[in-house]
Amino acid sequence: MSAERNTRQRRTIRDVVERAGRPLTTDEIFVSAQTSIPSLGKATVYRSIRALLDEGWLAAVDVPGRSALYERAGKEHHHHFQCSHCKRVYELDGCASEIRGELPAGFVSTGHDVTIYGACAGCSRLTR
Ligand SMILES: [Zn+2]
Ligand SMILES: [Zn+2]
Repeated sequence: MSAERNTRQRRTIRDVVERAGRPLTTDEIFVSAQTSIPSLGKATVYRSIRALLDEGWLAAVDVPGRSALYERAGKEHHHHFQCSHCKRVYELDGCASEIRGELPAGFVSTGHDVTIYGACAGCSRLTR
């Protein structure tokens, strides 16, 4: 594969991630990127995602029970919302939850991971 093609594929995938503004699955990245490069193969998308992760441009988002989702790396601390209907994951700004809990004596907290579940605007309209 030529370096030029490689560059174009990575740029397309970066565009897809930035335009989405929410974490995407490999399949979502694949489908969106194909509208720009119809000949794009899934193996190439996997490879490009791995390369962008290695470069530190992309970050994996961990949502329980889901395969990996990806978003732009280096964002401020934030949380995610998963729509129970369409399964899309959205980014929430900032930290709404001041979760402290009661840590047992001698425990030290280093962070937290919160996913909010519910219906997104599109889906809550449909189910009303
Ligand atoms: Zn939804
Ligand atoms: Zn937080």
